[in-house]
Amino acid sequence: MRFGLHVSIGKGLTKAVEAATILGCDCFQIFAGNPRGWKRKPLDPSEVEEFKKKLKSSGLRPVVVHLSYLPNPASDDPELYEKSILAIGEDYRRAIELGADYFVVHPGRVGKGKNMEEGILRVATGIRKVLSVVQGNTLFLLENQAGAGTEIARSFSEMERILREINRPERMGVCLDTCHAFAAGYNLSSQEGIDELLSEVDETIGFSSIPLMHLNDAVGEVGSHLDRHASIGEGKIGKEGFGLLLSDPRVHQLAGILETPRTSDDDDLRNLAILRELFRGGEK
Ligand SMILES: [Zn+2]
Ligand SMILES: [Zn+2]
Repeated sequence: MRFGLHVSIGKGLTKAVEAATILGCDCFQIFAGNPRGWKRKPLDPSEVEEFKKKLKSSGLRPVVVHLSYLPNPASDDPELYEKSILAIGEDYRRAIELGADYFVVHPGRVGKGKNMEEGILRVATGIRKVLSVVQGNTLFLLENQAGAGTEIARSFSEMERILREINRPERMGVCLDTCHAFAAGYNLSSQEGIDELLSEVDETIGFSSIPLMHLNDAVGEVGSHLDRHASIGEGKIGKEGFGLLLSDPRVHQLAGILETPRTSDDDDLRNLAILRELFRGGEK
């Protein structure tokens, strides 16, 4: 398996490639701009060129661009919805410009007391629109969510429903986040829970739709719907859970990206080392 980290673009795009290399990543993820802002300055063409050059010589693959935090493509507020679809299109365009392999999007939340089915249809309509306007080879991935409040795509059968509604399988896929799945009710700390998750994936979207995992331990209990990431082994999934998951051949063709808490590079280095050790342990 290839393992990597979410790295900052705070010091520039090429610095992100350097950081991923120094930290010993095989692959990495970035935001395409300020994750807490709507505004995007156009990318500087010379910086894009430099990024791609660095990337090529680094051998890092896959490269993942994650959508910023603010867009909510399931929103029933027309203004927020339109803004969200435009922002998704904009970040997707940037991901393509950067030559990213995958673009990861959270399907969002519907709003208290609102119809979940209508939310699913809004997401599907919005994404279909983005895919018709923005062309490129970067695969558009939806990420499973923890299911807090009215978040959609907490289960893989619901994910399948959304993908079927969008109906662009050649451009779409799924990113499986372990913390979100655990918080949504799949007990990844046990073999039984892992089997439940992987069989559901197999029977719904299928493993061919999942090129990528976000490997995060979970602060909250199973089924808590709490989207808070913990370092590997320091959360409720635990080292044993990750060891069991990574020893399952069904996930071996996937890339795994960490989005775990960090105060310094040491945290990233430790989390990466633990994952690799657990993976090697499972191969024996
Ligand atoms: Zn994630
Ligand atoms: Zn999360």
